[in-house]
Formats: sequence, structure tokens, C-alpha cells
Amino acid sequence: MDRREFFTRSSKKIVKSVADEVADSVRVRAAKWIRPPFALEEIDFLLACTRCNECIDACPHEVIFKLPARLGIQVTATPALDLLNHGCHLCEDWPCVSVCKPGALKIPVKPDDADDESDERFFPRLAIATLDSKHCLPYKGPECGACQGICPVPGAMVWDMTRPVINEKICIGCALCRDACIVEPNAINVRSKYKKLS
Ligand code: SF4
Ligand code: SF4
Repeated sequence: MDRREFFTRSSKKIVKSVADEVADSVRVRAAKWIRPPFALEEIDFLLACTRCNECIDACPHEVIFKLPARLGIQVTATPALDLLNHGCHLCEDWPCVSVCKPGALKIPVKPDDADDESDERFFPRLAIATLDSKHCLPYKGPECGACQGICPVPGAMVWDMTRPVINEKICIGCALCRDACIVEPNAINVRSKYKKLS
């Protein structure tokens, strides 16, 4: 390897490692909010989103809100899901996604080997939902079932006799079960999918 090639390779490595570091720190910060369906990876999302807020206006369930200025200039007025207070209804035609012209919200193209005949809907991973057995009634004695039959994702919420169990591998974190939960504090928690990294 000559000197020129050595320096070119070294500077490419440095640029890549700086870019990786920036992407990681952006992901860690993103643990504080939950983006709308089919949002790009956080750093790409921030580069693409023009803060036009069309997705906020398009949501018929008023689940999307603007992040406030106190969270920093980079994310001010970008859209996030208010899943602590409303579940995302996973609308059949994804109105929030289809109005996003810059493609910050974008349904991924089906891989070539995907089964075109499959009737199963493709859902985005929104957040991580967990069930707190300290608050869920059937874990303490009384029967409940308020969230039974609500989950739109096959296999995400299953019933162990009279008790609900969330399969974290299948659950996409839409929070519709949280919406249906009747106890206070709510037995279903939702957190950012980026939370694990922080
Ligand atoms: S999928 Fe529907 S309910 Fe969910 S954020 Fe988009 S428009 Fe709102
Ligand atoms: S278990 Fe709850 S949060 Fe998970 S997909 Fe089903 S309804 Fe949505």
C-alpha cells in the first residue's frame, strides 16, 4: 500500500467511526420519544423530516404530536406518537405515512423473496410494550379481560388461562391494549424501541 492509499483508507475509517458515533448518540437520545409508523432510523428520519406536520394532520386518531422545544433544537416540532395516552390504530391505509412526501415515514419495499400471496399485514415496530403483573388484575386475583381481543397483531398478546401475556418478539407496541386497560396505574407500559441502547 502506498502513502496515498494508506491516508485515504485511514481517513475513510475515521469518517465512518465518527458517523457511527453520531448515529449512536442520536439513537440514545431518541429513547425519549416514539416516532410514527415506518419512521426511518432516527438519524435518517431527522435528515428527511421537514417538520411540515402533514402526518399530524392526517392522523384521524390524534395520536401524533409535535415534540416540544425543551427537547432540543434538532428535534423541536418533529412528530412523535403519544402512546402513553392513545394507541396507534395501525390504519389500513397508513394515512400518516402516505402524506409524508420527503419519505421520513416510508413503508419498506417487500424483499424479492417475500410471499406475495400472504394475507398477513406487515406491521412496523413502533415501541416496546410490557405488562406489569403488579398492576394487572388477574395476576392479583380478580378476573378482568378488558384488553382481551383488542390486540390486532396475531400472537402478540396471548392468554395463559385468565391472564394476558405479551410476547415481546411479536408485539409491535401499538399500545391499543394499554388504551383498553382499566386499572390505574396502567398495567401496560410502552417505551421507545431505542430505550435498550441507553
Ligand atoms: S397509523 Fe393511523 S392511528 Fe397510527 S399514527 Fe398513523 S394515522 Fe395515526
Ligand atoms: S400486545 Fe398490546 S401493544 Fe402489543 S401489539 Fe398487541 S395490542 Fe399492541
